Amino acid sequence: DAARSAILVIGPVMENVVERQLAPRFDLVPIEQLDDARAPSIRAIATRGKLRVDDALLARLPNVEIVSNFGVGYDTIDAAAAAARGVVVTNTPDVLNEEVADLTIGLLLATVRELPQADRFVRAGGWKSGIFPLGPTLRERTVGLIGMGRIGQAIAKRLDAFSVPVVYHSRRAQPGVPYQHYGDLIAMARAVDVIIVIVPGGPATQHMVNAAVLEALGPDGILINVARGTVVDEEALLKALQDRTILSAGLDVFQNEPYVPEGFLALDNVVLLPHVGSATHHTRGAMGQLVVDNLVSWFEGRGPVTPVAETPWPRG
Ligand code: NDP
Repeated sequence: DAARSAILVIGPVMENVVERQLAPRFDLVPIEQLDDARAPSIRAIATRGKLRVDDALLARLPNVEIVSNFGVGYDTIDAAAAAARGVVVTNTPDVLNEEVADLTIGLLLATVRELPQADRFVRAGGWKSGIFPLGPTLRERTVGLIGMGRIGQAIAKRLDAFSVPVVYHSRRAQPGVPYQHYGDLIAMARAVDVIIVIVPGGPATQHMVNAAVLEALGPDGILINVARGTVVDEEALLKALQDRTILSAGLDVFQNEPYVPEGFLALDNVVLLPHVGSATHHTRGAMGQLVVDNLVSWFEGRGPVTPVAETPWPRG
């Protein structure tokens, strides 16, 4: 009976959208209040990724059926372990593509054209006694995307409008896109002047952008990371920025959020954002609604709306 089902909330997820709609239909149990007495009542998890949903947590919840993740990236959920237990995992794809692509272009332009630096120059009164130095350009650059999925394609479309050539690296060539595919990341890094990282996090992409990739990108190269902090070897990146073996970087994500390594704060060739790729009222609202829709659809017997690839669905 859905009315008596309990949902474990690892959050807050999005109180004015998710919790508000779920509260009338389900018992909401904040993770902080989970104990052995309540564990058997839990039939679903709604999570914003603040704590890992791993096999140990799933093992404590004998009746859990579904994990609904707020966000398209679900690297904080062990989806394979969930699948092995027959637990469905859902995420929030597509509803954030355009928003994240907008932010990526904003971060790219901010980094190339040094917009935060120019703003700081005006505020510090520098304009009264001089001009802001001429800087780098997006003109004559080729952008290499690491990842050409839903968001990557929305970014590439924007770059098309900017008349900026796009190539990409992923494990398999993406059907239906006109851009050159590189199976070899180092080869792509050598061929481009900007790398934009937009792949999922997790073990398969851990430190994919390492010292060798940065070296191949070269001294005029720019790295933009809007994927996950784990995809980039942060120490190698910091060293490359300090030694100026790459030109600059724009980062929305970090390995140990919300902690940003001190070394970055001291540099003027890096633009730092607090993981705001999808962070607007409009898009976060749409993501929250999809978290709710997945859970409601599941408990009304209609299956998940947006199950992840590892999930054992459809069954049979
Ligand atoms: P998709 O699944 O649609 O696309 C993923 C792309 O990455 C595909 O091109 C895929 O191609 C490629 N890829 C996956 N694994 C690897 C690998 N091991 N090596 C090389 N390429 C790989 O994902 P989305 O575009 O929807 O989202 C991408 C990620 O962006 C999310 O997982 C999330 O972590 C991040 N994100 C960040 C946000 C922010 O706020 N900064 C907001 C939203 C998302 P192939 O499988 O052929 O390799």
